[in-house]
Amino acid sequence: YSSVELTQHMLQRIEQLDSTYNSFITVTQQQALAQAKAADERRAAGNADFWTGVPIAHKDIFCTNGVLTSCGSKMLSNFVAPYDATVIDRFNHVGAVSLGKLNMDEFAMGSSNENSFYGAVANPWDTDRVPGGSSGGSAAAVAARLVPGATATDTGGSIRQPAAFCGLTGLKPTYGRVSRWGMIAYASSLDQAGTLTRNAEDAALMMNVMAGFDAKDSTCVDQAVPDYRAELNNSLEGLTIGLPKEYFRDDLSADMQQQVRNAIAEYEKLGAKVKEISLPNTHLAIPAYYIIAPAECSANLSRMDGVRFGYRCDDPQDINDLYKRSRGEGFGIEVKRRIMVGAYALSAGFYDAYYKKAQQVRRLIKNDFVEAFKEVDIIMSPTTPTPAFKRGEKTADPVAMYLEDIFTIALNLAGLPGMSIPCGEVDQLPVGLQLIGNYFDESRLLNAAHQYQ
Ligand code: GLN
Repeated sequence: YSSVELTQHMLQRIEQLDSTYNSFITVTQQQALAQAKAADERRAAGNADFWTGVPIAHKDIFCTNGVLTSCGSKMLSNFVAPYDATVIDRFNHVGAVSLGKLNMDEFAMGSSNENSFYGAVANPWDTDRVPGGSSGGSAAAVAARLVPGATATDTGGSIRQPAAFCGLTGLKPTYGRVSRWGMIAYASSLDQAGTLTRNAEDAALMMNVMAGFDAKDSTCVDQAVPDYRAELNNSLEGLTIGLPKEYFRDDLSADMQQQVRNAIAEYEKLGAKVKEISLPNTHLAIPAYYIIAPAECSANLSRMDGVRFGYRCDDPQDINDLYKRSRGEGFGIEVKRRIMVGAYALSAGFYDAYYKKAQQVRRLIKNDFVEAFKEVDIIMSPTTPTPAFKRGEKTADPVAMYLEDIFTIALNLAGLPGMSIPCGEVDQLPVGLQLIGNYFDESRLLNAAHQYQ
């Protein structure tokens, strides 16, 4: 098939099916066909990359030149980015075809994709259920086979949890492995771009494009990038898997435990050894995250002021009225909640008690992992406490929603890479196995995922 034929086919699928899933915010039909045509020409001229002509789609958090970049918010519902994020730029460079921009929780805050200004996203496995969040559009689009792979971001689980809920492979790389330039910031010390795909091989192929140093992001690490695909077939003989006892708690359902334990037994058959470990500060991860992430978001979102870009209220009376009403009308409820929590935690009288304390706890959590990786090569756990829940089930209770992140969030605080891969079903819904790696050990994660798949 030519890329134009392939692109036409995918666009047709999106048109026929996405009214059910709502996974796309913008479908860039014309641009996609133009990119496909250029890719076909490039292939004919003999200078094609692996990716040349392959369709892909991007979470609407990545600035895309000339295309609406909404971040799932009314605040940016009129924002056409004037430049490309580095991640977008890299895919353009190799000739990938972008089909459009994917739905997400507003400013990446959420675990169910119910916080989007563009409406909730349906899980293709059961359309009454959530696809997970915040990268719910990326996950639903790949799971529904509307696109073979999608970019996504993960601040506290937003790649791994949707992967688990939609039966996909999700990779959140080490903090600093992929450039955040042009990726709209939620919590800058936690945010990282990654992939949602059907399997580890596709993730490796995406990482070969995305990973690497970028002078435009001062937190992007200047370290050699391996060929991730070349490492997929290494043997797992002798691999030591750590099972943190705090992640296999009694309140995790027997069915969930069973699926994860079965997967680990498969790893033993592949030659791996299993060892129980302890990450004693695990219970502090959610409280620390829900101070640090809102604190950073309150600073990052202060740029959305109705003056420079984005939504502006009608007929402002003066500058204060303009700020107040633009932000009051432009942000959704969850975003406002986080800005308030964050501004409070950072305020003069409370900074030491909340923000500073949370940062200290963060170091303890990181140290737990550093100690654990002296004994084991990889850590495994469930990705989520339950399979996908019903839409509306947790919307009235933000704390119940935050508890969804219990197994994913510590990694972001530590900056470590993590993956979720499908490992069975509970109640006919997919379940995820989480793989946690040491710093810059994405190759090992992808290798381990590929051997299981
Ligand atoms: N669910 C978490 C939150 O709402 C994680 C979101 C994310 O990783 N972007 O903050």
